[in-house]
Amino acid sequence: MVTAKEILDRIETGGHRPTASRRRLLDAVVARGDGFTAEELVAEVKGLGRATVYRTVRLLLKEGLLCKLSLQDGAPRYTLSQKLGHHHHLVCVGCGVVQEFSQSVIEQMLMQLSGAGAIMGHRIEVYVLCPSCQAKSESTPGHSPRTGALA
Ligand SMILES: [Zn+2]
Ligand SMILES: [Zn+2]
Ligand SMILES: [Zn+2]
Repeated sequence: MVTAKEILDRIETGGHRPTASRRRLLDAVVARGDGFTAEELVAEVKGLGRATVYRTVRLLLKEGLLCKLSLQDGAPRYTLSQKLGHHHHLVCVGCGVVQEFSQSVIEQMLMQLSGAGAIMGHRIEVYVLCPSCQAKSESTPGHSPRTGALA
């Protein structure tokens, strides 16, 4: 697990000052870990302006410390990057937990598309129901939402 300290070190190495507001934001980011929106950070870190939050999120993205996920339900979500370098994401639609993976076979496959033009990048997000969410839905009797009265 990445710690706020490690992220601060990376920010400094990248030539950015670890200001007090960045530090507070990083604590919130590390506490959240998976799948938060910039607005959630704005709400959580009191006293930091929206512009500061968004600027810091952009900085962390640029340094490869955060990953941006475009999920089906609107606002982009961010997640702490565990792996440095190119990778993809598995996102649980039940609990929102994010896992990173890389598969050289995917990269090779995409290379073959280069006839369509110079590939400038790609993102792959795979939506899953993680094992613990699967277990939960199986152990709930009559888990079909249409069964029984409205809860
Ligand atoms: Zn990632
Ligand atoms: Zn899950
Ligand atoms: Zn890839």
